[in-house]
Amino acid sequence: MQGLVKDLATLLGSTQILSQPEEMLAYANDATHYFKSRIPDAVVLPHTTEEVAKVMKYAFEKEIPVTPRGAGSGLAGGCTPIHGGIVMDLKRLNQIVEIDGSNMTARVEGGVVLKKFQDTVEKRKLFYPPDPQSGCVCTIGGNVATRAGGPRGVKYGTTGNYVTGLEVVLPDGSIITPGGKFVKQSVGYDITHLMTGSEGTLGVITGVNLRLLPLPEADRTVIVVCETLEQAAEIVAEIIARGAVPAMLEFLIKLAITIMNQYFFPPLPTDGEGYLFMFFDGTEAQVEYEAKLVSEICHDMKAKEVRLVEDPRAAAAYWTARANVYPLIQTIFERANSEDITVPRNKLPDLVRAVQEIAAAEEVMIGLAGHAGDGNMHPSILFPQVTPEALEKSEFAIDKLIRTGLDMGGTISGEHGIGIHKSKYLAWELGDIQIELMKRIKQAFDPKGIMNPGKIWMEDGDKHA
Ligand SMILES: Cc1cc2nc3c(=O)[nH]c(=O)nc-3n(C[C@H](O)[C@H](O)[C@H](O)COP(=O)(O)OP(=O)(O)OC[C@H]3O[C@@H](n4cnc5c(N)ncnc54)[C@H](O)[C@@H]3O)c2cc1C
Repeated sequence: MQGLVKDLATLLGSTQILSQPEEMLAYANDATHYFKSRIPDAVVLPHTTEEVAKVMKYAFEKEIPVTPRGAGSGLAGGCTPIHGGIVMDLKRLNQIVEIDGSNMTARVEGGVVLKKFQDTVEKRKLFYPPDPQSGCVCTIGGNVATRAGGPRGVKYGTTGNYVTGLEVVLPDGSIITPGGKFVKQSVGYDITHLMTGSEGTLGVITGVNLRLLPLPEADRTVIVVCETLEQAAEIVAEIIARGAVPAMLEFLIKLAITIMNQYFFPPLPTDGEGYLFMFFDGTEAQVEYEAKLVSEICHDMKAKEVRLVEDPRAAAAYWTARANVYPLIQTIFERANSEDITVPRNKLPDLVRAVQEIAAAEEVMIGLAGHAGDGNMHPSILFPQVTPEALEKSEFAIDKLIRTGLDMGGTISGEHGIGIHKSKYLAWELGDIQIELMKRIKQAFDPKGIMNPGKIWMEDGDKHA
């Protein structure tokens, strides 16, 4: 990599390049800080699509790996530069280019922070639903690249449902603009949605066209305390089966509630094992009706307590604490290794039972939280201490969890992506033919293999720990 930093400084100017070892260290990992990775050889901070294209053209000629990075909040090791080379930090592409109320669309640059965008559209009574719980840091480019979801997936779907067009810089530096501002399109292969979920392996997303909705006028929060985890899962399955559609339907265990209770007053009761946080939105009449209907279902199913949260400030505090469960868990365990299994929703009670059985059989602690309304659960292996023995047990437990989810007709990732974290399991879900097809698509976009190499599937010589 001799001369790399000098060449990049000539291309972009020295204020847009980082290369000091302590700076490089900050770009070695994402939120899954425990994977071993290399530090990059240089970090570039482009301001414009043209600057991204200049760097890609250079890297293509010299065959240097490039790893795109949004905020590094990913939970799959996706933006870790495991082959070194250039990390491209996209946070300076941070312009909300257009909010078009008459078309209910927006156009943003790839590095725009999700919450900044949501706050901006909400001031205009517009609504962008996808809500990964890292919204205050993660970028829309990162959300598109991971096809991110969040609690609102149950009613509103995930990022992919809102992307109508993109601007992408390909590995050789050329710029394409698949899709557009229109609501639908039927023109050959759907490159917009092929890029969505491509985890930085096909190109750099520099611009995104998004669909918007009207901001719902009213909402209600209901919290349900359940005797057991199975009861909570059965209530979720029943709510879905009876056709009720909460905007959020989250599943939590007592451990999470105990930690969250430090952050609000009055505390939630801790005499249950399973908890459901539900949110309804729409018109006043609609939320009134849905909250009542779902409360009745919970009573019918003998929930321990069904609490309608009357005070909007209390509701907001509960939801903020919910968003912070994963970071809060990290403060009391040395490591929390979060999985992302998603199953058909009528299988949730079986999944919850299986998680407890696996925890007992493998002698590991497994925390359980998730966007239960869309079948997406995040069993987390909790390590009071990270020892070789604990790691070995956890590996067995994760293998069993993944196999169990797949046997139920589920998927290994509902929203986090594969990155390096789940590449071991890719063939379990997709089989060799689909993986070969993906590799041929990758070859067509990236013939020199410089775009985020070693992600999604492992190549010979890749080592992930
Ligand atoms: C506390 C916490 C809560 C979370 N909750 C959720 C949740 O509810 N739902 C959910 O889906 N995820 C969640 N996540 C995971 C994470 O926030 C999402 O995956 C998010 O979409 C990552 O965005 P980012 O900008 O940080 O991307 P990064 O982590 O920087 O990158 C993620 C992947 O996208 C690629 N990439 C990033 N930007 C671009 C670009 N512009 N062009 C091409 N490729 C790019 C990277 O190469 C990498 O492969 C959570 C994470 C944390 C820490």
